[in-house]
Amino acid sequence: MYKRNPYVMVPGPTPVARSIQDAMGRETVSFHDPRLVAEFKALIDDLTTLWRCDGIAFVVAGSGTMAMEMGIVNIASDEDRVLVCSNGYFGDRYIDICSRRGFKMDTIRAKWGETVTADEIDRRLSEDRFDVLVLTHVETSTGVEFPLRDLTRMMRDKHPEVLIAVDGVASMGGVEFYMDWGVDVMLTCSQKCFGISPGLGILWAGRRAIEKRRGMPPLNASYVDFEKWIPVMKDTVKYWGTPAVNLIWALSESVRIIKEEGLENRFKRHRHYAKAIRGSLSAMGFAPCCASELASPTVTVGLYPDGSGIDDAAFRGAVYDEGAHIAGCFGDFAGKGFRVGHMGNIEPNILVSAVAAIERAAIRCGHKIEPGVGLAALQRTLLEG
Ligand code: PMP
Repeated sequence: MYKRNPYVMVPGPTPVARSIQDAMGRETVSFHDPRLVAEFKALIDDLTTLWRCDGIAFVVAGSGTMAMEMGIVNIASDEDRVLVCSNGYFGDRYIDICSRRGFKMDTIRAKWGETVTADEIDRRLSEDRFDVLVLTHVETSTGVEFPLRDLTRMMRDKHPEVLIAVDGVASMGGVEFYMDWGVDVMLTCSQKCFGISPGLGILWAGRRAIEKRRGMPPLNASYVDFEKWIPVMKDTVKYWGTPAVNLIWALSESVRIIKEEGLENRFKRHRHYAKAIRGSLSAMGFAPCCASELASPTVTVGLYPDGSGIDDAAFRGAVYDEGAHIAGCFGDFAGKGFRVGHMGNIEPNILVSAVAAIERAAIRCGHKIEPGVGLAALQRTLLEG
């Protein structure tokens, strides 16, 4: 029997649209080729304008972790005090990056499945002087969304002098956000909501962040230095590190798709699909790992019901065989559930196939549910849109 490749329903990489694959498959040209230079320039302008950034966007070869490192080292010097919030695996990664850098750092942690709140941050910032606040918009290990709008309002009112850096790896391009909310550095990478293959870090640095970097002593890092990349982003014929030519073609096509859909429509679509996925998992008896008001629009955790006897590895293997690749959980939820990514350029037929695969696999693994129960819930929510 002919079998298509499983749908990539892990929280990154995400399904890559045909036209983006085609863009990646374009002939590799010199980064001085005027066609690439022009497209790169238009891409940087689009990224800056779409997310209402009063500074500059950066597109640099590397993964999301490179973008995290680049994001913090350019706005925090050794003398600065950095407050890092974490409620899961990737927040902990930012703590690790900051502690290796040797910043004077403090942390606020929330349990996995919960979030640090704006009130807690306000309290901590009122007790002590901090220069930079770091947090994760969507914590991919739990699917919890940080209430970023509330936070930026609070920060504007009460701690306007503190710079804010946000890991938006699992949110940018899918979840409501604009730089003029008051964030100084936002970052993501290509394989999440932008729906491209892995390989690009994408950052937005507002005016304050650029000024902060300018006033800092030379960085003890070179590849990730804003000062090295700013001339390239302003004039894309310039060279610092070789741009990932084919991924730039691809990101440019991804941004074209985003403009065609409209950012606001894209944000609504992600929330709608997330609601549909949550409803279908719950109808199949999988429990959420967080309160519904914290559930992110881009990734959802389903915990195995007590006594279901489902073996995690066997179940995810069965889902793969049925045609969808979902991810395991780690940390506090390791072995207790799975993660489904639903971000980027996906549409209802992909969701239907993924839920159908999960449903068949669950039944094959001995989970006592009626065939169609998850699909019916999914379809009901999809029809609301
Ligand atoms: N932050 C978050 C929130 C993530 O989800 C990920 C990747 N899943 C990263 C950072 C790291 O990105 P990368 O694996 O591309 O280095």
